[in-house]
Amino acid sequence: MSGSQWLSGVPRIESQNYDDRPAGSALNAIVLHYTAVDDDISLRALTKKQKEIPPVSAHFLITSDGTCHQLVPLNARAWHCGKSNWKGQESLNSSSIGIEIVNDGFSPFHPTQIETLKQILRQIFDVTGLGPEAVAGHQDISPDRKIDPGPHFPWEELEAEGLVAQQDIEPLMRLWTKGPLSKNREKIEKAMNAFLRKTPEGETELKEMLLQLGYAVHLYGMTHCLRACIVRNLKRFA
Ligand SMILES: [Zn+2]
Repeated sequence: MSGSQWLSGVPRIESQNYDDRPAGSALNAIVLHYTAVDDDISLRALTKKQKEIPPVSAHFLITSDGTCHQLVPLNARAWHCGKSNWKGQESLNSSSIGIEIVNDGFSPFHPTQIETLKQILRQIFDVTGLGPEAVAGHQDISPDRKIDPGPHFPWEELEAEGLVAQQDIEPLMRLWTKGPLSKNREKIEKAMNAFLRKTPEGETELKEMLLQLGYAVHLYGMTHCLRACIVRNLKRFA
């Protein structure tokens, strides 16, 4: 990476919560999150050490009005992933850039936030040389315990603009015998579990497909990984 570790034109609020990336760690991912709390609590949690919770941070925070702040320099390690594995890489804090977006997980993201995210992704691509294939959701890298950025995140909009690589889920969809799926999370889960029970012979194939998409099936299990993949591709499954 060359040039400044702070993106130009992006206001800075430097976090107290970051450290050095381990020597030799190459950047290979950009991880998207929602904060699940409001602007003030998000900013405080991501920038200050607090007694009640372990320190967390991300390189960027996009607030509810679409303003982006950079909190951590790009060459430093922010603390946003926890235990994680994606495309064979583990502990992604060391090798990723984290972007937190203020959203409660139940409401749509505001279009202004998504426009800001697109700009930030373009700037990150320019500065780091990373591309659309590097972008993942927290749900993808820690599917056993995380669901952000969740079902309201507009993956397809970012895919259409070449900012996120589209996952090739056609072979996986062909394995799916139930036909079109509801967007209702519970119904999807029920159908998915029935699918997993009904087709044990398809398991190896399914595992292989999920692994190829980047999911660490061997660590997190098929159901968690399949759920993350379905949420990410909800519009195409539904
Ligand atoms: Zn997250």
